Amino acid sequence: MIVLVGRNVHADFRDLRNLLYLLIGSGTAVFALGLLGGWSLSGATVRPIAEITRVASDLSETNLSDRIDLGETDAELQKLARTLNETFARLQSAFNRQVQFTADAFHELRTPLSVVQIHQELALSKERTPEEYREAIETCQRATTRMNALVESLLTLARLDTDAAPVLKERVDIGALVWDCVEQVQLLADSKCIRIETQAAFDVYVDGSRNQLVQVITNLLTNAIAYSLSDAEVSVTVHQQSDEVVVSVCDTGDGIPAADLPHVFERFYRVDKQRTQDSGGSGLGLSISKKIMDAHGGRIVAESAVGEGSTFMLTFPVASLA
Ligand code: ADP
Repeated sequence: MIVLVGRNVHADFRDLRNLLYLLIGSGTAVFALGLLGGWSLSGATVRPIAEITRVASDLSETNLSDRIDLGETDAELQKLARTLNETFARLQSAFNRQVQFTADAFHELRTPLSVVQIHQELALSKERTPEEYREAIETCQRATTRMNALVESLLTLARLDTDAAPVLKERVDIGALVWDCVEQVQLLADSKCIRIETQAAFDVYVDGSRNQLVQVITNLLTNAIAYSLSDAEVSVTVHQQSDEVVVSVCDTGDGIPAADLPHVFERFYRVDKQRTQDSGGSGLGLSISKKIMDAHGGRIVAESAVGEGSTFMLTFPVASLA
């Protein structure tokens, strides 16, 4: 006798199918969740980098004000963004200074150019006496001299700004150099009956460019003479203080108001614009001097009191060159 043993597996198959659907469903859900999570995670990482790239590539000479805004992100990226923003801010202010400098330079050149043009037109507009012609030519000559000096100063500044090469230094006897500079400005001082009292010992040495040092010292001397009344005295001293050499130029002239004093080393800064313009000053001499002193590892400082006078001091390290 044959006994057939069996059972209905239909239900098992159904359970297995359900399990399969469950597995596929939950697998897909896990996969989708993983995708979503990965996408949002990588988005959170990439978004700040995209913002940095956007700001950096949008920066141009007409748009230097954009800054990176990272909101709440990784501390390291925040640090990078802050550093870049500071660099952009420095670039912007250097660019603005350059634009201002160019505008000031054109403005300064325009005045003497207009003087020349007006006086030429006036002289040629009708027949003039020889004296009138002479007067017109002399006025044009003064304006041309002024333009020349201005262009010379602009060139010096441009060279000092762009010269990556260090100053070619030699061992300079600063005492002897000061005596030379005093001799150079003596005629100018005589024209205003100004006495220059010099106390400068020889054999005090600094390392520097002779031409540039002459430029700084003569600038201080011509300023001291220009801003003093007739019959005044200007004193110049050179002395060594341990490992530093100090050159000071002291006058008893107009003096500089306290509010203006910190600005006199800025380009084109003049305390009394009209007066200095009339005397041919362009407001570049002290900024050139400061640049030169920086390149020599030295300092230039000014002390002044209105009505009492001014003292400009140059400090250099003593010479190390043999
Ligand atoms: P400038 O060619 O106009 O003299 P500087 O750069 O040498 O240019 O000087 C800047 C400004 O500082 C001058 O215009 C002047 O107002 C002031 N100044 C410089 N030296 C003196 C001084 N010895 N006494 C009074 N004012 C001075």
